[in-house]
Amino acid sequence: MTSLMQGKRGLVMGVANDHSIAWGIAQTLAAHGAELAFTYQGDSLRKRVEPLAASVGSSFLLPCDVEDLASVDAAFEAIRTSWGRLDFLVHAIAFSDKNELKGRYADTTRENFSRTMLISCFSFTEVAKRAAALMTEGGSMVTLTYGGSTRVMPNYNVMGVAKAALEASMRYLAADYGPQNIRVNAISAGPVRTLAGAGIADARLMFNYQKRHAPLRRTVSIEEIGGSGLYLLSDLSSGVTGEIHYVDSGYNIISMPSPDALKT
Ligand code: NAD
Repeated sequence: MTSLMQGKRGLVMGVANDHSIAWGIAQTLAAHGAELAFTYQGDSLRKRVEPLAASVGSSFLLPCDVEDLASVDAAFEAIRTSWGRLDFLVHAIAFSDKNELKGRYADTTRENFSRTMLISCFSFTEVAKRAAALMTEGGSMVTLTYGGSTRVMPNYNVMGVAKAALEASMRYLAADYGPQNIRVNAISAGPVRTLAGAGIADARLMFNYQKRHAPLRRTVSIEEIGGSGLYLLSDLSSGVTGEIHYVDSGYNIISMPSPDALKT
């Protein structure tokens, strides 16, 4: 392992369990020397996040539900008090009512549209603002998106619309914070079997379709997403901001699946 992240301190938001994409990124960052703090959403998740954090040498755990702005403020205030500043942020948070992650997008309700946008998109803008205030020596932020933002994926529905807005926010935030040497990027991951992933109807079909039709003929692991997280959050990518970095076995480049794959 390298010392790429030695002396860097960062906040990881979105670990629910050891299948979480945020966990894949956290493990990689820790292995390269980063010091980590974690947020968790509610007491039931604390039990899962605590031993994971301990396994990478962290006991800095903060409750944070992005629907409750007071808990977001409290989390960043705790970081300011303990660390004084921040070098990086991982935002891996999304939610939508799973009853609307099936069927037609056209049937999305006003209530779930607003809630999905708040949790899955606007929360990044809110935490980025608080993180940037602590990035007094520059920094790097990464959020997680999915290709359903730009192309229609069955059942992804309102989450695709939220990811499109998240990607646009990422670009605006990159422009806003660039003058402070704070970089903002997104990783667009292929399908991964996680709690959030399982909420999408026919997730198994999406997973298998990716395996069959992506150029690499497989899905990606959370460790592979972690490798890209390390790149974007370390000085290796010091000239990169406002980018969507695909970690999807190349699926995003395909228009028509290969005839060979269609025949199998
Ligand atoms: P996950 O279920 O492990 O993580 C989702 C996280 O969001 C959980 O930790 C959950 O606690 C958190 N969260 C939800 N609502 C919250 C709230 N109100 N306040 C605070 N936290 C809240 O699933 P994951 O797949 O690792 O998801 C992480 C990110 O990766 C999400 O943005 C997701 O859309 C994105 N992503 C997932 C896939 C996939 O196939 N799994 C693919 C591309 C992108």
